[in-house]
Amino acid sequence: MCSGETSVLNLLRKGNKELIKELNRSLVIDRVRLQGNISRTDLAKETGLGLSTITNIIDELIKENLVSEVGTGDSQGGRKPVLLKFNGDFGIIAGLKIEMQEVKMCLSNLEGKILHKQQFSYSHGEANKLAQVIIDKLECFIECNECASKLVGIGIATPGLVDRESNEVIYSPILKVDHGDLKPIGMYFDVPLMIDNDANVFALAEKWIGLGREYRNFIGVTVGAGVGSGIVIDNMLFRGDFGGAGELGHITIYQGDRLCYCGQRGCLELYASDSFLVNEAERMVSIGVPTLIKSYTPITPESIVMAAQNGDVYAQELLVKQGENLAIGIKNLVHLFNPEAIILGGEGLREGEFLLKGIKKELEVHFFIKHPRKLQFKTSQLGEDVWLIGACALVVSHLFKVPIYK
Ligand SMILES: [Zn+2]
Repeated sequence: MCSGETSVLNLLRKGNKELIKELNRSLVIDRVRLQGNISRTDLAKETGLGLSTITNIIDELIKENLVSEVGTGDSQGGRKPVLLKFNGDFGIIAGLKIEMQEVKMCLSNLEGKILHKQQFSYSHGEANKLAQVIIDKLECFIECNECASKLVGIGIATPGLVDRESNEVIYSPILKVDHGDLKPIGMYFDVPLMIDNDANVFALAEKWIGLGREYRNFIGVTVGAGVGSGIVIDNMLFRGDFGGAGELGHITIYQGDRLCYCGQRGCLELYASDSFLVNEAERMVSIGVPTLIKSYTPITPESIVMAAQNGDVYAQELLVKQGENLAIGIKNLVHLFNPEAIILGGEGLREGEFLLKGIKKELEVHFFIKHPRKLQFKTSQLGEDVWLIGACALVVSHLFKVPIYK
């Protein structure tokens, strides 16, 4: 009995030797990458690995040019410690954001520093062969910037439902096109291809180099043509069973009300997205409300914001209402996940003054309000590059993920 147990244990240990080595290596790379300027001794302390293991791993990483020595730190009594830094220029990532009739592309280093950007339009006729269109444009973009030999992966952010296992866009009503299969892009360039929905990508960008770095648990909320969210729990993006978690736009806020394109009635997106603004403004104009909005043709979300900034109370109230509606959805997330922070972003934010007023007003009351630890509400500082950064983050989190989580 005893010897049987021992042999099984030995087998397990033997079988896992390589995995343990890989785990340790990933732990070290991740710590150097995320912390920067760290000594071998501190690495040993923080990872719990022995100093000789750390030394061996670091020697290997320096040889591979993934890590370099960058001078010395302050002495704690003995010799000054040599500090180590992750070499972010070791590889190049291509990040893409697919939008309606347009694709944005970037080339970034492994630390989220965007080196080159480009965008191109595609016609309705090209939508069915989007993978080939992207391959042609991306190849040219990469070659023009002489990055082909350093390319380590491609990340794509797209609206809609993405199956994480198959790496396929299942459904994308906003694009109103069938993407077909984007996998040929990864096969053509012979690098890992990671695809995810744009709200998840937004949250990943915030976690990587944005405000999300401060929080273990936060939710990124995006507003614009659609409404979405990316949920980060214990520093990991929560994707649900197949990648559909965080579909904030399709939670029901008014049962039995307006019909959403998803087939349900009363979805939040009908009351908090750009189309809510335009539909409501058109309705106000049609019934003769004396709003400045009527002087804009066609009515767009931008023109509504402009009217509000010019003192039009009807436009202001409409934006506040949009914010209150969005906050009802946000509160549902807060009660379900008890996050430390909500980070808001997306093209629908615009100048945001009145929308934010509505959100903050509605968020003033929730079940956790009496707890001393207060919910933080922030707006993203990453600008319109957030999607491209997040697309690159998809690749980085794939490349450097500790293998046990793969
Ligand atoms: Zn819906």
